[in-house]
Amino acid sequence: MEISNSYLSLPDRCYVRQLADTVPEPTLLAWNAPLAEALGLSGLAESDVDLAELFGGNRRPDEAEPIALAYAGHQFGNFVPQLGDGRALLIGDVVATDGRRYDVQLKGSGRTPFSRGGDGKSAMGPVLREYVVSEAMHRLGVPTSRALAAVATGERVMRERLLPGAVMTRVAASHLRVGTFEYFAARRDLEALHALANFAIERHVPDCATSERPYVALFESTLAAQAKLVASWMGLGFIHGVMNTDNTAISGETIDYGPCAFMDEFQHDKVFSSIDRGGRYAYRMQPTIAQWNLARFAECLLLIDDAKERYEQALEQFIPSYRKAYYNVMCTKLGLRPDDGGQHDELISAWLQHLQDHQLDFTLSFRQLADRLDASSETDEPHFGRFEQRWREAIVTAGDDPAEVRTRMNAVNPLFIPRNHQIERAIDAATGGDMSIFNDLLEVTTEPYEEQPALASYAVPPAPRERVTATFCGT
Ligand code: AMP
Ligand code: MG
Repeated sequence: MEISNSYLSLPDRCYVRQLADTVPEPTLLAWNAPLAEALGLSGLAESDVDLAELFGGNRRPDEAEPIALAYAGHQFGNFVPQLGDGRALLIGDVVATDGRRYDVQLKGSGRTPFSRGGDGKSAMGPVLREYVVSEAMHRLGVPTSRALAAVATGERVMRERLLPGAVMTRVAASHLRVGTFEYFAARRDLEALHALANFAIERHVPDCATSERPYVALFESTLAAQAKLVASWMGLGFIHGVMNTDNTAISGETIDYGPCAFMDEFQHDKVFSSIDRGGRYAYRMQPTIAQWNLARFAECLLLIDDAKERYEQALEQFIPSYRKAYYNVMCTKLGLRPDDGGQHDELISAWLQHLQDHQLDFTLSFRQLADRLDASSETDEPHFGRFEQRWREAIVTAGDDPAEVRTRMNAVNPLFIPRNHQIERAIDAATGGDMSIFNDLLEVTTEPYEEQPALASYAVPPAPRERVTATFCGT
């Protein structure tokens, strides 16, 4: 295995060298063997015990030089000049079989100079949540950090109460965030900003290096990636929950799964996060917030390439780019052919309004709608009211074969998502030493579009008493 640390080429203000804490009783909770294989990390350890030692923090891969990265960030709109990896360590980066370079990071591995008042640890619950949700997102085709390992530490960590501790290993295209740039912009450290921007270009968009304005090109590519990313979240009813600039990746991947959740019944202004009292990061706000975060990125890049108009023009393109991506996502989900003219806009709104008015489950409704195209359902009463008639007409007008539309829809609309109430059950059981629900949840979300009769209950929305109304950061 070749593990290096490209970040060490950045100015030394960008990071602090730091070793992980040792932990008393590392036990492997989950190991992503296919991902390890893809990263060329399969030969890393002989046994689960070895893996737990490595990814619990007790043993360091020989060449690894772990660091905590510096970053700042706007949290709920307020600028915090110093955040940084307060409970995470970048072990290094590896070149995967796809030829790309990926960061390998431990999360919950102990205090760092950026920990402020925190203990640098993670509780098992948030680790398992991030594991299962990020892997599900990957299967659903959403750019995201991945989960390589989860290790119980045998320690207790103090949160609202004492909870079992764990370390998560995540893999990402990089850990550069808008907040990384903000840290150096706030300090007017232009040398570091140049180095970071060049690093981002080399890592994510090497073609931009030869563009006439490389930093503008970097900005445009991050913007395009974020527009697509948020559109894919919206199409899944996914709410990130803490879209602070320190959780906004330059790569356009979803990172930092905290109080995130998939909606059950559709509600446009749905909020889960217990700390988001103003609803800043509500479902419907996500595109606007992504644009706001990108404006903060532009302000940083302006310091090293004063192309104000170019950044402004790009920012103005964000909502149109997002709308286009969202329109494509929703048309595809509804079995309609996306066009350039927004011909189905009204139908999409009518669908969402119907879901909201009748408190229908976001995920399953798309599957049930597809099933309405089953020949035997044609004579029934419509299940989805007036919308259904209009939608059937649109399919007929397009000249599409209903059976084919149904197949297409079922190939893009998941049956299984990691539902909040199941995640809570999985965490409760895991805390008591039973990983079976967690493993079931991983299994069903690995093939999210396929019927899995033995595990069909995981597709079912929560009963009223099972509903989870808020999620917690776990910090
Ligand atoms: P997050 O909520 O994970 O995006 O974290 C926001 C900031 O708080 C980051 O700088 C984290 O490193 C820091 N942080 C969160 N939890 C802890 C913790 N338990 N100990 C130290 N720092 C933490
Ligand atoms: Mg974060």
